Amino acid sequence: MPAPVRSAAAILVLAACGAVATAQDRPGDLRSDPAWVRSRYGGWGGPGVQPEAGPMDGVAVKDYAPQPSLVLPETTIERARFPVIDVHAHVLADTPDEVADWVRTMDAVGVETTVILTRAVGADFDRLAELYLRSHPGRFILFCGLDVRDIDAADYPRRAVDELVRCHAIGARGVGELTDKGVGLTRDSGLAPEQRLHPDDPRLATFWDKCGELRMPVNIHVADHPSAWKPLDVYQERTPDFQGFNLHGKNVASWDDLITRRDRMLARHRGTVFIACHLGNQGHDLAALDAALEAHPNLYVDISARDYEIGRTPRSSARFLARRRDRVLFGTDMTREAGMYRAWWRLLESADEYMPGRVLWRYYGLDLPDAVLESLYRGTAVRILGLASDGRPAATRRLEQAPDTP
Ligand SMILES: [Zn+2]
Repeated sequence: MPAPVRSAAAILVLAACGAVATAQDRPGDLRSDPAWVRSRYGGWGGPGVQPEAGPMDGVAVKDYAPQPSLVLPETTIERARFPVIDVHAHVLADTPDEVADWVRTMDAVGVETTVILTRAVGADFDRLAELYLRSHPGRFILFCGLDVRDIDAADYPRRAVDELVRCHAIGARGVGELTDKGVGLTRDSGLAPEQRLHPDDPRLATFWDKCGELRMPVNIHVADHPSAWKPLDVYQERTPDFQGFNLHGKNVASWDDLITRRDRMLARHRGTVFIACHLGNQGHDLAALDAALEAHPNLYVDISARDYEIGRTPRSSARFLARRRDRVLFGTDMTREAGMYRAWWRLLESADEYMPGRVLWRYYGLDLPDAVLESLYRGTAVRILGLASDGRPAATRRLEQAPDTP
């Protein structure tokens, strides 16, 4: 019997050395590093048993998919409790058949209207307006993009505004998703820091003001999940599925700098509604997000793609959503599969525990009360999108009245 124990111990040492060499690039055993022990085990100080080597030492984090032995109820919610306005989707259907298929899924799961954040201008936007707005009145709302060509030219601010006005005339009812993850809204990583077009750039001032004048909310993605600025090592918070989004060590603005620029833009353009998507990338710090909402009355947030933030903090998230119910919008930002929508309903409406999610940790249902759910799903969106009380977009009504208007 002693022999296997000794060999297991030898393998453990080898495995530990291997992990150190690849993940930390410095000598020593991670298990003797107090910072690692604290991060891994908290006050427990360890697993409480002597870890032994075994087949799991070769299991990669990206492959780990534990099957819990827990016996718990699994709530299936086919349709959302209230008709939903999903304020964060993209061009996930590109033909009339695909659009019709999407509408069938929306009917099945209880989504009344989907906002398509096209990011498009020019002929691209015109084609999408034709594809989405005419065939299914009331089911889609289109946001257009921001023209980012020749941003250094003297006429750039005027051109950007002219294209906005043109898209609005065709049916755009908002702008977005505009994204600055550290290289500016042109998303051109080749630009030097001083050339980048960040949200507080004076070249955008007239554009933001025109959005407000036309009552077009701006969906804006500033920074990203803070873990994207942290190294891809043993302390990385999110799973390897997200490592393609990592920015650590890259020539990008810092997370804090980007949030500061966003807040400067919010303060300068109070007449424009901004929807900072993904909980403003502050879902990890709801107190800070709450302070930002307090400081900027024109700031709204959507919860899209942050299932993994609210799912790991069901109690504080539920309190936040109740307190800021007039400022938070529902959005998905994933596929258009029925199962994806129903996973959201289960997260928001049920009290289920330990649900699988898109990251390493599991989710807990928020069990939201009706009043909070109603404003999250539609009430706040109806208000800021200027929808009629029947929930139908003004853009659709105009199209129906004048079907030949370009
Ligand atoms: Zn998006």
